[in-house]
Amino acid sequence: MAGLGEFALIRQYFAAAACAAPTSGVARGIGDDCALLQLPPGEQLAVSTDSQVAGVHFPLQHDPFLLAQRVLAAAASDLAAMGAAPLGFTLALTLPAADPAWLDGFARGLDVMARACDLVLIGGDTTRGPLNINVTVFGRLPAGRALLRSGARPGDLLCIGGPTGEAAAALPLVLGERAAHGAADRQLLARYWTPAPQLALGQALRGLASAALDVSDGLLADCGHIAEESGVALVIDAARVPLTAALREAAGERALHLALSGGDDYVLAFTLPAAAQPALEASGGLPFHLIGRVEAGSGVRVLDADGCDITPAAGGYQHFGGADGQA
Ligand code: ADP
Ligand code: MG
Repeated sequence: MAGLGEFALIRQYFAAAACAAPTSGVARGIGDDCALLQLPPGEQLAVSTDSQVAGVHFPLQHDPFLLAQRVLAAAASDLAAMGAAPLGFTLALTLPAADPAWLDGFARGLDVMARACDLVLIGGDTTRGPLNINVTVFGRLPAGRALLRSGARPGDLLCIGGPTGEAAAALPLVLGERAAHGAADRQLLARYWTPAPQLALGQALRGLASAALDVSDGLLADCGHIAEESGVALVIDAARVPLTAALREAAGERALHLALSGGDDYVLAFTLPAAAQPALEASGGLPFHLIGRVEAGSGVRVLDADGCDITPAAGGYQHFGGADGQA
């Protein structure tokens, strides 16, 4: 890297960061050819990787402090979706230049989200090129207890861990098409830049939920994955889909559309045998909204209060297009 050398950069901003301090479960962190993770007998390692490209996943003009939080949160959300307990993450950074102001903000943001998610930075790679950030997260699971997409059964309830649509409603603000003003806009921007991965909910759902995933491409599109993997139909009651005041204020009549089809929410969607609902309610303060049910059949349907099918046509975002893709 120009100016600051590669190794000095790694040392200063990442190896020395608070979030890189080793903890139990990390036998070797940054500094050797590989990190070493220590799993107790009977546990499985959950691994997920996530790449974000400037100009595709986030705007070229951005605050690196917020960007780091968003990138790590999006990756950690996959651990939540499997019911895994967070362990560590690696960071592969491709940077156009070694800009100290950018690196300082990014490293501080990484620290904030790593602490919130209980994740330790255990290694990475640093190269020069167009800005591109890859995070790989590692988590622990009791063997055989992961929350899969494939276990939903007719009769189960369909739930989400929080309201959707706010991140999508923030896009005009994020892209600078509209200036932010007021508390509602601040809430939308916070939802976009600093999502809160539902790690506690995911772990609480182990042994209760029949299927789960995190909503990243839009509620309908992601529910479609559960329907397909489980060989069932999912039915969403539109009137039960939570719409926040901030979403209604920003999106007006399009609020329900954004809640169903917007992306970047990073809340969990899961199916729950009805018999498990009391146990989840008893598990203390974990957020969830009942929005529908599982039936025999295939696909995802949205019904209005009269039972009429109001399913929107388009699916979620797909990078290489496809039948229902956008780009
Ligand atoms: P190698 O050449 O063996 O791949 P590197 O020289 O790329 O190793 O990295 C040296 C050490 O610094 C390794 O432990 C690597 O995991 C770590 N590292 C490199 N870049 C980063 C980064 N952006 N964040 C955290 N750790 C990093
Ligand atoms: Mg390397």
